[in-house]
Amino acid sequence: MYNRVREDERAYKLMYKSFELSLSRPTNSQVAKTILLDNECNEIQSENNLSFVSRVRGAICTFLQQNKLEYKQHNDLEDNYKCECDYDCECYFNKFIMPAFKNLALSFEPYINNGSLVNHILEEYTTEEKDRLLSCDLREILRLMLYKELAYLAFERGLYDVSCWHHEATVLMYGGAITNEQFDPSEYIESELSARNKDKANKRWSKHNQLRPKKKKQYLEIMDKQNFTTFAETATYIKQYIETGKTPSYRTIELWLSQASRGDFS
Ligand SMILES: [Zn+2]
Repeated sequence: MYNRVREDERAYKLMYKSFELSLSRPTNSQVAKTILLDNECNEIQSENNLSFVSRVRGAICTFLQQNKLEYKQHNDLEDNYKCECDYDCECYFNKFIMPAFKNLALSFEPYINNGSLVNHILEEYTTEEKDRLLSCDLREILRLMLYKELAYLAFERGLYDVSCWHHEATVLMYGGAITNEQFDPSEYIESELSARNKDKANKRWSKHNQLRPKKKKQYLEIMDKQNFTTFAETATYIKQYIETGKTPSYRTIELWLSQASRGDFS
């Protein structure tokens, strides 16, 4: 028993580590290589590239420490959120948290756009180096590092789903930088989330559709067995003794009976 616990613990630690490891991608040197064109740089320039990326990271960490996640503000979560997981999941929790992360990302946007943060960091470098760095897409670095740190922030708080989304956006942004394509991480997360929810809604609906023909058949049999002559009478009986839950409603049962009697079992 003791060994099993230790084995479980080890497996858990390995899993945790591999998640953490994947969050570290792209690394600072990968970012420097792709966006600051590190391969074309001399030693001093290379050092500056790395120190620039790590200073950006430091500034973002400070920003995230100073700005709290506002969980309840602007939360547009519907009341009856359901997911398809067959375990004690945290989908509801994760979805509830997402807007807070989005707002945090948005509140950093001015620092990216007005150049104040970049200028502040660049004060450390010579004019020549400043100009060289400014010729690269520094906004892209700021945005990429922001999403990377948001993924860490979510991970540290045990919000693994949220962490995955931000990590995915980071990696895609990095891929965009390699292929010179613009990529909007906030828009991406939003559209992916809504696509995922739509997919879940469709699955729920198709389950519902499979159930309906069975129900229609069952209701019609009850009508026959009980010798009822009207749909209203049958629906009342069904609602009273069989479908005692909230759904299907009396109206639905009546409608399904009338459709079934015409041979429509869809
Ligand atoms: Zn779930």
